[in-house]
Amino acid sequence: MCTVGGPFGNEDIKRLEAKQYACNECGSKFKGIGKNPMCPSCQSEDITELEA
Ligand SMILES: [Zn+2]
Repeated sequence: MCTVGGPFGNEDIKRLEAKQYACNECGSKFKGIGKNPMCPSCQSEDITELEA
């Protein structure tokens, strides 16, 4: 009896939080999720959020 919600919901939230970032250290661009994503190439937190 507890089937409220459906297959969508969590994925929508993740999509909204995934933003495009550019690393200021190595210049690579990546998608980050969360408040403080790190560069996947050099693990730097010195990144800039890009406008979609
Ligand atoms: Zn980097």
